[in-house]
Amino acid sequence: MEITKHFFLNLSVIVILLFFCFIFLERNKKWTLSKHPLIFFFIVLLWICIQFSYHPSPHTRYDLRIIPLVIGGYYAGIGPILIAATIIIRGLYGVDLGFYLTLAFYIPFGFVVWQLYSWFWERSPARRIEIAVINSLILGLLTMSGVQLNGTDSSLLDAFTAYILIPPLGVFIISYSIEFFKKNAEMRQRLIKTEKLKAVEQMGAAISHEIRNPLTAASGFVQLLQDDYLPRQKRKEYLSIVMDELQSAERVIQDYLTFAKPSLESLEEINVKSELRQTLNILQPLANQNSVEIHTDFSILGFIKGDKQKFQQCIINILKNAIESMPNGGYLTVSTEFSQTEVTITVTDTGEGMTSEQLARLGEPFYSTKGKNGTGLGMMVVYSILRAMEGSIKVESKVGTGTTICITFPTISLTKEKQSRQS
Ligand code: ADP
Ligand code: MG
Repeated sequence: MEITKHFFLNLSVIVILLFFCFIFLERNKKWTLSKHPLIFFFIVLLWICIQFSYHPSPHTRYDLRIIPLVIGGYYAGIGPILIAATIIIRGLYGVDLGFYLTLAFYIPFGFVVWQLYSWFWERSPARRIEIAVINSLILGLLTMSGVQLNGTDSSLLDAFTAYILIPPLGVFIISYSIEFFKKNAEMRQRLIKTEKLKAVEQMGAAISHEIRNPLTAASGFVQLLQDDYLPRQKRKEYLSIVMDELQSAERVIQDYLTFAKPSLESLEEINVKSELRQTLNILQPLANQNSVEIHTDFSILGFIKGDKQKFQQCIINILKNAIESMPNGGYLTVSTEFSQTEVTITVTDTGEGMTSEQLARLGEPFYSTKGKNGTGLGMMVVYSILRAMEGSIKVESKVGTGTTICITFPTISLTKEKQSRQS
């Protein structure tokens, strides 16, 4: 059982390597690998197979190269490259009978797999596994006939296990795992999408209700305005009510739109400091109205990656809440901190604060304590933008004392690193 032992050992090495490959993919969360690392991985596999081969005579080597060839050829579409690599690696171990047999066997095989690649992917997962297994079986049979031609003196049972049983078994295990993981990843993706759609749908229903109220009120007042004998003062009053109602409807729509489209459209470098300054400028009138004094303490550096507009929206929502929590004036402090991995933005207000129940409900759609002046969508938008930008949030609050909100984003160098690791 010499060869069988060899091959089983070989197979376990391949399976272990594959296992780590899956872990890597799982961690990456993206189920696509670009060609170069794939080619590298399969060439390493091939080399391991050939290095730990069984060679009964000095001119022949028997190994499990079939497994990486079949899997790489069908699943990664890199058959011809792998065949070339096999020939080169095998050549390094000597140009002998085995080498010529390799040429004779694998060049046609590589060509066939290459031709069948797109056809292969049109089959169902079960069929794909079947095709890969049958293919390795055929190659196993060919190898076995090669062995017989060569006249090595291994027992038939041993040869059968080693060439006919183990390679298809290995291909089966691997292709089955690939299909399994692939299906899993696809299902997860679909789930996320349906969850999102469901949320958007629910929001749509709730929103039409939220919009109808101010619109009904507005149209009521418009009707009153039709009265030609309405005093000038009253007319003015009604008009300003209509205006308010329309603005509140508009606010709901604006917030909803930012929620429904949280995927980042344009990825760009964001200079946190200058973006915060700009946002504070926008909110200055509101702060003045509430006699809120703004203090800033920005670190010099701090770049993150994301959609500028959404980032601004996120900050505006947080700052607006902070200012609105201080109707009788107070201090708003905005500071940033920069480390090698993260940029942290801290917003502190000396406003009315929140109870623990209010804190727990923060981010829930339509949860607002502001009655007509709030939509209860602001913080929900903040959460969805943070999720899309891989940021995190921490909120501390005490009734009567104020609220501190820390949001953290990965810095740009880290994002870059992550991306280069993924590709
Ligand atoms: P809205 O501002 O339209 O009410 P948000 O989602 O922005 O909706 O906020 C939800 C609720 O969370 C607010 O109504 C308020 O009660 C509470 N809240 C948020 N930020 C603060 C803060 N800085 N201080 C006190 N309460 C806050
Ligand atoms: Mg708000």
